[in-house]
Amino acid sequence: MHPHLDTILFHETTILSRLDVLAAQLMSDYVGKELSVVLVLHGGLFFAADLLRRLHLPLRIHSLEVSSYHGTASSGSVTFKQSTLPEVQGRHVLLIDDILDTGRTLSVIRQRLLDECAPASLRTCVLLKKRRAREVEVQADYVGFEIDDEFVVGYGLDYEGEYRNLPLIGTLKREFIHMGA
Ligand code: 5GP
Ligand code: MG
Repeated sequence: MHPHLDTILFHETTILSRLDVLAAQLMSDYVGKELSVVLVLHGGLFFAADLLRRLHLPLRIHSLEVSSYHGTASSGSVTFKQSTLPEVQGRHVLLIDDILDTGRTLSVIRQRLLDECAPASLRTCVLLKKRRAREVEVQADYVGFEIDDEFVVGYGLDYEGEYRNLPLIGTLKREFIHMGA
């Protein structure tokens, strides 16, 4: 175990078996449809890579980079890092992100894609969903795991840019979180 971790929530084998189930569900829902995945970078990177390799369907992959977190708290605003949106007009879009927390990120991206990209349909898929009240109401259509309201890292999720490449999901020891960040 990584020395900065306090607890482990999900080991890689647990994550991957859950992805087998999610992939089976997605394949039955999207068979015969023109699927475009929009992946939210960088948190959704590992989740999408492992999930999409299990989807035996023709699909296209796009990405968006947004930022909303500073340290361990949501900053309240969602900034798009690129000026253009993916071309998904008339296609069935699956928006993939790492985690649903306040709901702002998914809600803002979802609304922009619906308003500006004219997809045939749009569903959301997250690896983790926190058990807490959303600040913005947003539906996650596919969810890997529900977790308590605590800050987690690993398997794509970072703290100040680090820990994304850990193959598991866990919490950090307090001494590695700079208070006031
Ligand atoms: P929301 O906009 O729903 O508040 O937050 C979504 C984004 O905040 C996620 O894409 C993720 O980047 C970040 N985030 C929310 N909760 C956590 C967490 O527990 N750990 C990490 N590393 N990032 C989180
Ligand atoms: Mg993120």
